Order: sequence, then C-alpha cells, then structure tokens
Amino acid sequence: MADHDRLATIASLAKRRGFIYQSSEIYGGLRSAYDYGPLGVELKRNIAQEWWREMVLKREDVVGIDSSIMMHPGVWRASGHAAGFSDPLVDCHNCKERFRADKAPRATPGDPVAFHVGGKSQGLKKAGVVGPCGYVCPVCGSCELSDERQFNMMFRTSIGPVDPMEGFIQEVAGKELEKAQLRELYDRYLNESVIYLRPETAQGMFVQFLNVLQSTSMKVPFGIAQQGKSFRNEIKSEKLVFRTCEFEQMEMEFFVEPGTQQEWHRYWVDERLSWWRSLANIGENFRARVYEKDELAHYADACVDIEYQYPWGWDELEGVASRTDYDLSRHAEHSGVKLTYFDQQKNDPSTGKAGWRYTPYVIEPAAGLTRGVLCLLSDAYSEEEGVDADGEKKTRVVLKLHPRIAPIKAAVFPLVKKDGQPEAARRIVDALFKAGINAKCDEQQSIGKRYAKHDEVGTPFCITVDHETLSDGMVTIRDRDTTRQERISADAVVDIVRKRVEGRL
Ligand code: ATP
Repeated sequence: MADHDRLATIASLAKRRGFIYQSSEIYGGLRSAYDYGPLGVELKRNIAQEWWREMVLKREDVVGIDSSIMMHPGVWRASGHAAGFSDPLVDCHNCKERFRADKAPRATPGDPVAFHVGGKSQGLKKAGVVGPCGYVCPVCGSCELSDERQFNMMFRTSIGPVDPMEGFIQEVAGKELEKAQLRELYDRYLNESVIYLRPETAQGMFVQFLNVLQSTSMKVPFGIAQQGKSFRNEIKSEKLVFRTCEFEQMEMEFFVEPGTQQEWHRYWVDERLSWWRSLANIGENFRARVYEKDELAHYADACVDIEYQYPWGWDELEGVASRTDYDLSRHAEHSGVKLTYFDQQKNDPSTGKAGWRYTPYVIEPAAGLTRGVLCLLSDAYSEEEGVDADGEKKTRVVLKLHPRIAPIKAAVFPLVKKDGQPEAARRIVDALFKAGINAKCDEQQSIGKRYAKHDEVGTPFCITVDHETLSDGMVTIRDRDTTRQERISADAVVDIVRKRVEGRL
C-alpha cells in the first residue's frame, strides 16, 4: 500500500470505527482540530495510563503534578517563549501555500527548478533558480517565495472581566495614527491582561520545583511528571493528529546533579525507546536520532529524538533533551526566587567545604500523547490475505493493538439470540466489568462479521457462548492475532483475560 493510502486508510478506519473524528464536522470542520470518539478516548487514556504507571507509579524517584494551562505571563518571558517561540513562515507566490521554512524540501542555491504555474499538477511550466534560502515550496516545488517571517505560535487571550480592546478603541477613536503608533497602543492595551495558553506542559513543572521539593522528601536525582493539553498555533497542521493546534503531551523533568547529566540522558533515552517498543508490534520502526551540534537549542548540551517510521517516513514522536540548568536559572532570575537544591552529604566542588548548594541540571523526556495515538494506530494496522468460509479471497483487517492499550479487552458473543445464550453472555460481561476489564456484549450479525468488526477495532479476545455452554459451562475464546480458538470454562474467563492482557499467560 502506498504511503499516502496507508495514512488515508488509517484515517478512514479511525472515523468509521469511532477513534478520531474531525472537530465540528457538521459545520464543515475546524482545521487542525480533532475529537476522540468512544474507542479513541479509551485508546488515548490507556496510553496515558501506561505512561503514568511507567514514569510515576512504578518509581520512587518521580512524582506527578497537574498544573494549570493558563499561567502568569512572566513564565513565558522567562522561558523564552514570548520572544522566541516562533517558526519561520514563508509564502509561496506561485501556489499560495504557507509553510515552515525549516520543514521545506532542501535544494542547492543556484540550481535550476521547474514547476507548474499556479501549483497545478499539469499545464504550463515555469523555470526558476533556487534562491539563497536553499529550499523550495513543499507543495509545488516553486522557488518564487516570500522572505521568512517569524510567527509566534502561542495562543493569546485575556483574563478578567474587562475587554482590553474597549480602552484601545476609546483611545484611538477619531485620531489619525500611523501604523506603528497603532501597533504600540494595541500591544499596550492587550498586554495589560494578556495570558497565553501553554505551548508545552514543561514550564508548570519548573515553576513548581520548589513547592514539590518542600512538600515532599524528594532528593536529587528526582523527577516531576505531568500530562495535559498544550496549544500551538501551528502554521501548518498535518497528517491527522500528528501536528495539531491543540494536543496532549506527557512530559517529565528529571533534576540531576551537574556533571551527571550525560549518563542520565543516556538512561532516559534507553528507557523511553524501550517503553514505546514494549507497546508496539514492530520495534525496528522506532529509533533514536542524535542531534547534530548545530541543531541543538543554545541552552541544551544534548538532545535525542525518538522517531517513528510513520506512513510518510521517519519523524519525531518524543524528544529527550539535556537542558542544563537553563530553565531553573531563568525562572530564578525572572521571579527573584532561589531555585536551588542543597545537598548536605556533598562537598561544594568550588570550595571543598561540606554541603553543596547548586541549581540542578534537567533531563526532559517530552512525548506527544495524541501523536502517540497516531503512531500506535499505524503500528497496529495490518491487512492479512486469506479465504472466507466459501473459499473466496478475503482481506482481514486487524488492529494489532497491544492488549494493554486496546479500547475493548474482550467481546462476548451469544451464538444465537435465544436458548439462554444472551443471558449467559451477559453474566460473563458483568463479571468482566466487575473485575475492571472493559468488555462488550455483541449480539448483532453473524459470528464471522462480529469477529471482523472486533479485529478492526483491536479487541484482543472474543468469547463465544454456544449451545453447549449451558450444559457443560464451557465457552470458546478466540485470539485476535492468531485466530486460534480454545475451549475454556466460562468461570475462568475473567482470570484468563486478565492474565493475557497483563502478559502473564
Ligand atoms: P516538531 O519538531 O514536530 O514541531 P517539537 O520538537 O517542536 O516537534 P517538542 O516541543 O519537543 O516538539 O514537544 C514534545 C512532543 O510533543 C513532540 O515530540 C510531539 O510528540 C509533541 N508535539 C509537539 N507539537 C505538537 C503538535 N503541534 N501536535 C501534536 N503533537 C505535538
């Protein structure tokens, strides 16, 4: 299947089966916004829960928080986002596409290029030469491009009961002002009440460093983790939920002693890579890509992207950055509050005296949850050729989601809707519910169609109640991936499903 087709096929299944819908679809949809349907929300929560278990619950050296989306505007001045969180934006004069310069296809300055006028797929062709920028339009290949403009990606809004624009309107009404004067006044009024929707969850953890330290008995090295929504006014949203303006992140700030950051960075890259692989079918589709020196942010001393081979090729899934003491130092400087750690057991390396006060260094594994949903859907999607009961060629679509993240763990089918079978199926589903296992009782259509439907949504186990169940107490359990069927006792279903989901059987 071609790459484009694979993404389109996954998007179509996601919509048809209730994983991901376009937001506000009945109004024509909102660009870059998606809603998670009944199965999508379960999948997303399950991935988030696995991450939380791995990063917080299984460890004594990491604690969780949940900080607010709206923060003091000073946070963004200190973090550098207010001034520098921008992408280089370029307009194509030929096809009118707007794109990010840093993501555009590279080309050698001075090389000839040919492209269709107006970005059409055929017709009149035009020739040109690649400019000094060294890239061309990602859509039509044209070299007729605007200069780069920096575009701040933070969503701005205002807080408080007063409309900041009211004062602005009063002040400018009836006056003839130059553009620059208007801009200055506009910014002044806006800044009085401006707040931003957070573009990352990370800053919430840096600004609560001291509170966490004082309210717990954490000792360096330790981490603060959180999950939540982030917002970026992306120039170009793309590829289903890969890049959207509203998305979810799972981030952790791990505070370490200066000088130990290299080994901790290596540790977290290995941890994160093996975690993603543990939930996937094809481990080789995940890799760690080490940043070149010139790719590093000015404050980072190392960074590795965990990349996945999406239908369009290798791309970022998670970044693991070694951020030095930049964040805590900046917040200390801007807030005037000391954000340091005192280690009584260590000698200060600069004086040799007992006790060392220092600003911890930070390792930050920052993953996308919503991007993770797309990655794991893509990893799970498979088509298997086979034959049906009549010997006809048939393609079996299977979502091979790891049982731990599958939205429905077990589907229970009565073979027929009579003879006490629906009631027996219902008793099994109720027992599964009681054990906290998400199950579904499904009575509609033929057994074959019910299997096909649950293969497509990734249900790992299907249990069928048949004529003999009422006399011998046995049911059939079918494994989604192998399609192997076994007879087991109806009383053992809960235990067997639980153990298989947990990988203990
Ligand atoms: P990219 O280079 O793809 O824009 P980034 O390097 O800016 O990503 P980070 O700031 O490191 O991303 O954010 C950490 C993670 O958050 C990313 O690896 C990605 O999984 C996720 N993420 C970032 N931006 C978006 C977005 N607009 N939509 C969905 N997920 C995102």
